[in-house]
Amino acid sequence: MQRKYIVVTGGVLSGLGKGIAMASIGNILSASYKVVPIKCDGYLNVDPGTMNPIEHGEVFVLDDGGEVDMDFGHYERFLGTPCRFDWNLTMGRVFDEIRKKERRGDYLGKTVQMIPHVSNFIMEHFLKVGRESDADVVLIEIGGTIGDIENELYIDAVRSLSRKVGRENILFVHLTYVPIPYGVDEQKSKPTQQSVNLLRQKGIEPDIIIARCSEMLTENIKRKIAKFGNLDADGIITGVDVDDVYKIPLSFEEQGLSQLVARRLNMSVSVDLEKWKRLIEKKESARKEIVIAIAGKYTSLEDSYASIIEALKHCEANCAVRIKVEWVDSEGEDVSVLEGVDGVIVPGGFGSRGTEGKIKVIEYCREKGLPFLGICYGLQMAVIEFARNVCGLKDANTTEVNGACSHAVVDILEEQKGIENKGGTMRLGAHRALIEKGSKVFDLYRGGEVLERHRHRYEVNPDYHEALKGKGLVLSGMSPDGTLVEFIELKDHPYFVATQAHPELKSSLLKPAPLFKGLVEASISYRDAVVGD
Ligand code: GLN
Repeated sequence: MQRKYIVVTGGVLSGLGKGIAMASIGNILSASYKVVPIKCDGYLNVDPGTMNPIEHGEVFVLDDGGEVDMDFGHYERFLGTPCRFDWNLTMGRVFDEIRKKERRGDYLGKTVQMIPHVSNFIMEHFLKVGRESDADVVLIEIGGTIGDIENELYIDAVRSLSRKVGRENILFVHLTYVPIPYGVDEQKSKPTQQSVNLLRQKGIEPDIIIARCSEMLTENIKRKIAKFGNLDADGIITGVDVDDVYKIPLSFEEQGLSQLVARRLNMSVSVDLEKWKRLIEKKESARKEIVIAIAGKYTSLEDSYASIIEALKHCEANCAVRIKVEWVDSEGEDVSVLEGVDGVIVPGGFGSRGTEGKIKVIEYCREKGLPFLGICYGLQMAVIEFARNVCGLKDANTTEVNGACSHAVVDILEEQKGIENKGGTMRLGAHRALIEKGSKVFDLYRGGEVLERHRHRYEVNPDYHEALKGKGLVLSGMSPDGTLVEFIELKDHPYFVATQAHPELKSSLLKPAPLFKGLVEASISYRDAVVGD
């Protein structure tokens, strides 16, 4: 089969869920085809790794160490394919490459221009990703909303792509919004019409329109949108508001999306959503509820911890339980907020703000036998807490917070010393860890070798390994050379586990992250013991 391209653009509003819509299309097609996603961002940062998570949401990290847009989280969770850094374009990265080419002399004698040079470069990149990944279907999400200046070159590139690969091999999906204004109580198609017009002015005719709406679109409004948009009425799909994004592939498929794509691109698509559906039903029918507290400093924007929330949702489905997330701002140091909580996560973080609050929370968990999962900074804070309160090293700290402390139990990684540039320089991506037989982590992963993703500059200081072990801290997973602590746990505790990695990044509905599942199961037992179930 000739390689197919599906391009997703957005109109009317930002934040309508283009990433999820594209991931859902991919999810439906991935039972029959190898689907590879590309995301195009308009900003001038080379990657989102240097952006504040409160402004931009979570920085997602890939196996290859790429720091990418959080939409890659949706893609991986919905497609089950590990993605690559090369699949996230930003205008910063595009211009970086163009300037390198220009300096090298690749354009010698020519005036380098936005069109054709930059736009062609982007188009060639789409083709290259398809070739190198040997994809059957390449999905391309263009960030922002149609009409944004910063995304114009991407739009021009997909228009050229259409000419290059042939209109029969490319499908344009446009995501819009149908409001039902208060008092009018009627679905309104005008914003969609205008947005489609804007797209057509740029030379792109949409084949499918997905219209976000709080209710299913009426046949009448579909006909109207189809007429003004110059497409068939069956090309209009409702992106109906749902309480759970995992229902979106099911909703699209109920509306015949796979066959619509198949017809338009001349493919045969067989769909397999049974297991996915069963898990959602299991989650929906769960009666028991537990409360998991997340103690972090970016709690004002849930998107900062997007993958953690998703990993908990995967556990809800697989453990048949409802999870209420309680946000605990780690700048407050009052642990009484943990009463009524059944489990605690201390997530990743940077800098000194909120660290003492995290340490207090961990102390409470350790002493009260409250299930605890520490992630990255959470592991480092757990080690500091243990060093201070169990090993008696009063001034123990990380040099990230206090460079002059007398017991630097967490210190900068050797390989990080001397690095000055901030972008893309942390210890990033998948790293192997060897797990101690007989440990809880070994049981959870069902094996002695684990590959999880990382994003950090500091580590547990090897000078303190023996002292920590001597007082009962189990270093249950180490880097293969035995120098870096990757997992820790406590023996006489229902669930006290932490990792230097970010296991939430590899969690999915069909395969929840083992450490999260372990936490949730322990929290269920904790709740049962408290309420005497
Ligand atoms: N700030 C810590 C470090 O750089 C932890 C990073 C994280 O939690 N992702 O090592």
